[in-house]
Amino acid sequence: MPLYEYQCTECGHNFEKLQSMKSTGADCPNCEQPAKRSLSVFAAVSKGSSNGLDFSPMPPMGGGGCCGGGCCGPSH
Ligand SMILES: [Zn+2]
Repeated sequence: MPLYEYQCTECGHNFEKLQSMKSTGADCPNCEQPAKRSLSVFAAVSKGSSNGLDFSPMPPMGGGGCCGGGCCGPSH
């Protein structure tokens, strides 16, 4: 689900909101006026690259699930 960033045009308050793609707006939590979407990033993208995420590309094999079906191979 995308994470949208809004800036309120009334009070200048910045806030973020997780919304579905279909949602087109959000109200400022501060003054409850309609805010303007200023940026959209995906929630899966971590903000700030300083904390190296310990992400291992190869999960421990169990022989089942997605990788068992071969759906996560690079050529598939
Ligand atoms: Zn506001």
